[in-house]
Amino acid sequence: MKMQLFQHYIDGEFSNGATQFESLDPATGKAWAIIPEAREEEVNRAVTAAHRAFNQGQWPKLTATQRGKLLYKLADWIEENAPYLAELETRDTGKIIRETASQIAYVADYYRYYAGCADKLEGAVLPIDKTDMQVWTKPQAVGVVAAIIPWNSQLFLSAVKIGPALAAGCTLVIKASEDGPAPLLELAKGFHAAGFPSGVVNIITGFGKTCGSVLTSHPDIDHIAFTGGPITAQQVIKNSANNLASLSLELGGKSPFIIFADADLDSAINAQIAAIFAASGQSCVAGSRLLLQSSIKEEFINRLKQKAETIKIGSPLDKSTEMGPLCTLRQRQYIEQMVSASINAGARLISGGFSLDKEGFYYAPSIIDCDNTEQAPCLTHELFGPVLSVQSFTDEADALGKANNSRYGLACGLFTQNLARAHRISAQIRSGIVWLNTYRAVSPIAPFGGFALSGHGREGGMAAVMDYTRSKTVWLNTSDAPFPDPFIMR
Ligand code: NAD
Repeated sequence: MKMQLFQHYIDGEFSNGATQFESLDPATGKAWAIIPEAREEEVNRAVTAAHRAFNQGQWPKLTATQRGKLLYKLADWIEENAPYLAELETRDTGKIIRETASQIAYVADYYRYYAGCADKLEGAVLPIDKTDMQVWTKPQAVGVVAAIIPWNSQLFLSAVKIGPALAAGCTLVIKASEDGPAPLLELAKGFHAAGFPSGVVNIITGFGKTCGSVLTSHPDIDHIAFTGGPITAQQVIKNSANNLASLSLELGGKSPFIIFADADLDSAINAQIAAIFAASGQSCVAGSRLLLQSSIKEEFINRLKQKAETIKIGSPLDKSTEMGPLCTLRQRQYIEQMVSASINAGARLISGGFSLDKEGFYYAPSIIDCDNTEQAPCLTHELFGPVLSVQSFTDEADALGKANNSRYGLACGLFTQNLARAHRISAQIRSGIVWLNTYRAVSPIAPFGGFALSGHGREGGMAAVMDYTRSKTVWLNTSDAPFPDPFIMR
């Protein structure tokens, strides 16, 4: 089979890169694409291009409205090419086509939202406490942004960085994950076709140490927008000591999914399936800790198990498939190890718990009862796979205590018909997102991000654009009087 070739996009030009590596199709485990590998030389070239484009040429001269128009053109290009981009993402990451097709079409709306934000950034005239001064503030682009993207949902997770950064007037170097980079590298054609000036957007990929680390410690980087795991984030923070870049961090999760006995159980079961088995559980907001009120535990688990065991697993390119493979063999090996450690720690396997005996990186939807142990790694660690740990609770206080017993704080699902209880719990839960009687809903209009080990950035919404700006304060002396006593602060 002929391998498909992808390219870097640096300073408005496409190139194969000095070195390449192969990308595997997770559904077969076989190489299907040749990917360029950026190392120090390419990273430096990309940052230099972004730095120049920020300071010189057309980009800094464009009005905010003109920047917005370029983003609208990009959005149209994405919409037209969404089926092809979705196929690439499915091929390169194993995420099912049912999801990539709708998610990538929606990515166009993210860019449209930020296109509209570009000329809505206002400053303020200050009611200053001096009669001879006019003082105003205005938001200004922070500079050159390094965007580091993980392997799940690369087009979506890059849109929430690129959209607001360009709306603010920044330029970027985007590092696609080395796993599944094809759709993000391909997206470069959209920026080119939309007419963004050379160097404004540069898209490369490579490995953590030889590419990501070089990029995030580069002296010309002003802001780092990172999405990935907390251990990598610690490295990135250390790298930022070199350039003192500001940081936004979107990290992992171990999100609780709480179900009270009064909930609509049909709906809760479907939502729990969505929370942990959609995208094969490879989602930062995966609802991976199910908390069930004791009185419904047995019935709920039986029904959930039955549903989980009839999920249609197969080729991610087949529209009827409900669960595809994991993205990498490394990921599957990690899950195997964590499930076995959980069982050794006293957890009880209810369903699944094995890799499928077929080519590709498939793992069965798995449910593990952790009521006998609080030490099971599947309860404490992010597995990033289709593994659900279950605990029961007696009352609201017990549910809250268990839900908040995590170092992560990204999302929480809560199913109850009691509105007052929903308010109480959503106020006390330590997570950046709470979904009440629903799950895994996102929008360009709604902020997204976490607490604690889940990071501290907020992506989505107008506020995200402000992350890519700094406030400038301008003082104008309105008096004709000579400058007064130079030895006293005015
Ligand atoms: P990862 O942390 O291994 O890698 C993320 C990116 O960082 C990759 O592009 C990688 O090449 C790069 N990288 C690795 N070492 C680096 C270094 N020293 N310096 C700079 N960059 C480096 O994460 P992953 O396995 O690709 O993705 C899964 C993780 O991402 C999970 O923890 C998941 O929860 C998290 N995630 C979070 C969100 C969110 O919005 N909160 C969304 C999706 C994924």
